[in-house]
Amino acid sequence: MILLDGKAVSAKTKERVKNEALNLKNSGIEPALAVILVGEDKASQTYVASKEKACHACEIRSIMHRLPENTSENELLALIDLLNLDDSVDGILVQLPLPKHINTSRILEAIKASKDVDGFHAINVGKLASGLDGFVPCTPLGIMEILKEYKIDVKGKNVCVIGRSNIVGKPMANLMLNADATVTVTHSKTKNLKEICLNSDIIVAAIGKPFFLTADMVKDGAIVIDVGINRLEDGRLVGDVDFDSVAPKCSYITPVPGGVGPMTIAMLLANTIKSAKNRAKA
Ligand code: NAD
Repeated sequence: MILLDGKAVSAKTKERVKNEALNLKNSGIEPALAVILVGEDKASQTYVASKEKACHACEIRSIMHRLPENTSENELLALIDLLNLDDSVDGILVQLPLPKHINTSRILEAIKASKDVDGFHAINVGKLASGLDGFVPCTPLGIMEILKEYKIDVKGKNVCVIGRSNIVGKPMANLMLNADATVTVTHSKTKNLKEICLNSDIIVAAIGKPFFLTADMVKDGAIVIDVGINRLEDGRLVGDVDFDSVAPKCSYITPVPGGVGPMTIAMLLANTIKSAKNRAKA
């Protein structure tokens, strides 16, 4: 069994991003990412702080907008408009979840697709589904990067994606399909999940339930990617995979922490550089 070391792949990606950012700066383009945080959600504050730190480390200008919980939808839309029009801004990210009085889809659709480095805008979703170049959500993109780094070719492989969220499951399925895998997307209403998993060469678990994928659901030699991040009552951080029992059956597996997690921010930076390169070409 080989551990897929997302921390190492993330460090390598960030190094590449930093070099590309320096090259862009030398040609007069300073890559910039604007992050908007509305409200006081503790987890969101931590994520946003990590994004800011990663930008600094990789020579990307970070523009932070911390807005109060009672910010209105129109005020948020007005800020997005300003950032859309600002040619010095390459990426715009609105940290989710937003307060309940704000319509999330309306906000995500207001971000200019060419600056949508999270890949959530319908134009980018459509491009991914059509196999066209656009921005791809960072977590599934990071998973493809790990597989590439370990020279794992998914062509012709049976892939089971567990979970159908817009940020992980659905884009993951499309990326795998675009890379010629045979994909089954499963979810909470799927009836024969165990059977589908046992027939899969690769399983991507994105459910949000600790220890969900157990050894009896995994065939010998399978590749298992664990997207889950779950905090147990005793404070431990675990994935969706029962790692101790599943790992011995796998050819490759991602640990939690240190697997998929570190890739998400790295790919956000990579998407920002991609946007800055588009600016340089324009
Ligand atoms: P979500 O809650 O939006 O979606 C969960 C999915 O799991 C749903 O599609 C649901 O149908 C499916 N599901 C629930 N119960 C099921 C069951 N019994 N059988 C089969 N499918 C079932 O979650 P999400 O946003 O996609 O996140 C999933 C997990 O990944 C969470 O633990 C989250 O914290 C984690 N996550 C990690 C990263 C990262 O950077 N590593 C990024 C995003 C999400």
